[in-house]
Amino acid sequence: MSDVQRPASITDEFLTRLVARVPGSTGNTWKLTEVYTGEVLVELPQSTPEDIETAYAEARAAQRLWAQWPLKRRLEVFHRAHALLVDNAHTIADLIQVESGKNRRMAVEESCDPPMVISHYLKRAPKLLKPVTRGGPVPVVTTSKEVRVPKGVVGVIAPWNFPFATGLSDAIPALMAGNAVVVKPDNKTALSPLYGIELLERAGLPRGLFQVVCGEGPDVGPTLIDHADYVMFTGSTATGRVIGERAGRNLIGCCLELGGKNPMVVLDDVDADEWAQQALFAVFGNTGQICMAMERMYLPASRYEELKAAFVRATEALVIGATYDFGPEIGSLVSVEQRERVAGHVEDAVAKGATVVTGGRERPDIGPAFYEPTVLEGVTRDMDAGCTETFGPVVSLYPYRSIDEAVVLANDTDYGLNASVWGTDLERAEAVAHRIESGNVNINDGLAAAYAAKGTPSGGVKNSGVGARHGDQGLLKYTDVKNVATVKKPVLGPQPGQDYDAYVKQMLTSLKVMKRLRVR
Ligand code: NAD
Repeated sequence: MSDVQRPASITDEFLTRLVARVPGSTGNTWKLTEVYTGEVLVELPQSTPEDIETAYAEARAAQRLWAQWPLKRRLEVFHRAHALLVDNAHTIADLIQVESGKNRRMAVEESCDPPMVISHYLKRAPKLLKPVTRGGPVPVVTTSKEVRVPKGVVGVIAPWNFPFATGLSDAIPALMAGNAVVVKPDNKTALSPLYGIELLERAGLPRGLFQVVCGEGPDVGPTLIDHADYVMFTGSTATGRVIGERAGRNLIGCCLELGGKNPMVVLDDVDADEWAQQALFAVFGNTGQICMAMERMYLPASRYEELKAAFVRATEALVIGATYDFGPEIGSLVSVEQRERVAGHVEDAVAKGATVVTGGRERPDIGPAFYEPTVLEGVTRDMDAGCTETFGPVVSLYPYRSIDEAVVLANDTDYGLNASVWGTDLERAEAVAHRIESGNVNINDGLAAAYAAKGTPSGGVKNSGVGARHGDQGLLKYTDVKNVATVKKPVLGPQPGQDYDAYVKQMLTSLKVMKRLRVR
């Protein structure tokens, strides 16, 4: 194992201060470890149901005051927070790296997500949250106003693969809209969201408004959902079903951002080497632990061998390593359990007849959870790697003979989170993109183009989720609509002395007039 030099910012004092924010009245803790070495970094308190109830009570009290702040004053907090998040990007990246094991590039890019979300909604929130006056049932003398009110306290449940982005970025529009937030990060990766909250408070976010609770999902999940007014969940499809069922029983809304088995369709007019270089990130970025990463690659049969050779060449040149600098292009998987899951998918595929073209080995010589970037061929739907999310650095190559066949193969999945189409003729590539059943499709990119487009909603279809983040709905979902209707003159119903025949005749005539006038 390499000699890992932990970043200087990661001191015991810093980590102790961060976890002090987590309530844990029984004193039970979880050992949070540095992924590259397996060494314990800090004891993370574990929250009991009573701790979670207290967190909600404090959040609710803070929310009542926060919702009364004029929007402009609330947004000023986020103007300051943006600067603090950018200025502290390297410390944030240090925390993300120690707790998740990803490489430096990915950690720094992740640190940029909340500032991007802040920038977008600083511009958009005033428009979205402004009351809108609509016509009432009788023009001029009646009106209806659409008023946005915060839901109350939003429960955010975040996974380990992008702990800072999912822990903070989804909370930001909820807070801007006047809500409080109780976030539950994964135990493995609680440090970076804790630091993010500290920075938001330094920017002026009232204390108590953004709470953190920690624990194993099934232990803390029920209390967390039962006290929330809305749940924002990012994680696996299996857990998403549990969350969605409970939210449904409680008659609260939820947004579920779940897994994928994402296809890439490569058209026959690509430049092989240029495509291969770009496609590496789509497949192996974050060591393949991106919900939007490509796990199935469809190549035209006429150029299959050439494209495969270019991609394998590029894959074999990737630098794997356990360092906190920009050297390694591939970092660790998040845990030994995740490495075992990935290895299990490859072993299952090989046992059922697939071939490892390159990679396919664990790398304990680098660190406890390292696994090589791996390319498979001959994967079929009866293999784990053929039908379920692997969530690691493993991709399967398939030849296709016609575009129709490529589209059928790409859509042959229960998931629908992300897809990618590569081609020089953009019109043709876009025509293919429109035929793929997916919440996101990137043309000549794997995932970043869609995910970084904060103005467009991003979510999954089929088993990949319900609802979306980003775009107008990424903020409006955290609000209820209040319909405030006003009658300026008593015109609804029969007028005094008017008989019902005359009233009905007048009403039916006015329906026709209003349609002609296009009165809404
Ligand atoms: P997971 O579902 O196991 O856990 C996600 C979070 O839910 C964790 O905080 C976990 O502690 C919590 N949890 C688990 N069981 C729970 C329960 N019963 N009640 C309440 N909370 C519970 O997922 P994971 O393994 O941490 O993350 C990887 C998965 O997340 C992959 O499937 C990936 O595709 C998905 N993901 C999706 C997106 C997206 O935007 N669609 C983004 C990132 C990750």
